[in-house]
Amino acid sequence: MSSRLISITDLTISQLQEMVQSFDEPEFRAKQLLHWVYGRLSSSYDEMTDVPQTFRERLQRESRLHTLSALDKVTGSDGTTKILFELADGKTIESILMPYPKIKGKPRFTVCVSTQVGCPIKCPFCATGQYGLERNLTPGEIIDQVLYFAGHLRGQGEDRRKSGNEPVNIITNVVFMGMGEPLASFDNLWQAIEMLNLPQAFGLGARNMVISTAGLVPQIKRLSQEKLQVGLAVSLHASDDALRDKLVPINREYNLEQLIRACQEYSELKGRRLSFEYVLFEGINDSVIQAQSLSRLLKGMKCHVNLIAANRNQDGGYRPSSSQAVLAFESELKRNHIVCTVRQPRGLDIGAGCGQLRSRHHEAKEQS
Ligand code: SAH
Repeated sequence: MSSRLISITDLTISQLQEMVQSFDEPEFRAKQLLHWVYGRLSSSYDEMTDVPQTFRERLQRESRLHTLSALDKVTGSDGTTKILFELADGKTIESILMPYPKIKGKPRFTVCVSTQVGCPIKCPFCATGQYGLERNLTPGEIIDQVLYFAGHLRGQGEDRRKSGNEPVNIITNVVFMGMGEPLASFDNLWQAIEMLNLPQAFGLGARNMVISTAGLVPQIKRLSQEKLQVGLAVSLHASDDALRDKLVPINREYNLEQLIRACQEYSELKGRRLSFEYVLFEGINDSVIQAQSLSRLLKGMKCHVNLIAANRNQDGGYRPSSSQAVLAFESELKRNHIVCTVRQPRGLDIGAGCGQLRSRHHEAKEQS
């Protein structure tokens, strides 16, 4: 597959319209394409029965409908499904589908997507960080992760309404928490978010999408100015600069004072609560004293803390905290009126924690 072909999901609405025009087709073809790609989740141009054959053939020759091919798939005991995708240039990324209990009989699924191949932040406990950054994903490569899972669920008939055959969107949430630092590739991320949000395209509410960041302060400020109400989660992991410099090295560039100020500004301008991720590592950031220091840092802020016991990665240097330590940390935050929950790790039995599937593939490739 040549990587020089246009990918339909890499195009904005106006680029799609330009393409249609350049092919001497009427304007409404752009709408038809949007409908087939984002609404009907077509996997081939042949399905687009109301699009003339000649146009379909030209599209087939000059463009790609999808940017990803699935290399490996594993499903865990909790229903979490993880896919290793190959991109057109042979690089690989991971994406995860997580089912959640139905509400009023309606199934709910969250997709966790990658935004970069590798990651520039290099957090020492993160499997992806160990590779460094290879490249940003294109908007289409970000979008296609979501469309892949939506199509996969549709194939299983998961998204039929009880009455009739009309499909409903059961990807209820998208979190940009896979490989990479989403805010380091802001423009591509934002184009993907706009297309996923657009009613004529995928139609997912902005509030149902969450961007996770290691703390890129200028980009958090930029996000505060955007109209779409996308959620923000900040990977904090430490409440003092000395420790955070080690755990999340971007802290050396934007320290806690700058980060917290940007977060405060974000929640004031947006009028909404933001989340802080705090991964607990045994003996490193999980003491009650550190819980008190975190409480002081976040005092008075409209926020929610997600406590997460770490996933083990290869070197074993960063071990997960014991469940007693997690509970003690949580109750200290609650005692200080910090809203928090302990997030249950998912897909651990299938290595769905942070870059683990990709690591396995790299190792297997090196050994073969
Ligand atoms: N770069 C962004 C988003 C991708 S990482 C960020 O830092 O937020 C998504 C989340 O997974 C981050 O909170 C990150 O710190 C966490 N993470 C990475 N490795 C982990 C591990 N071994 N155990 C638990 N969480 C991990």
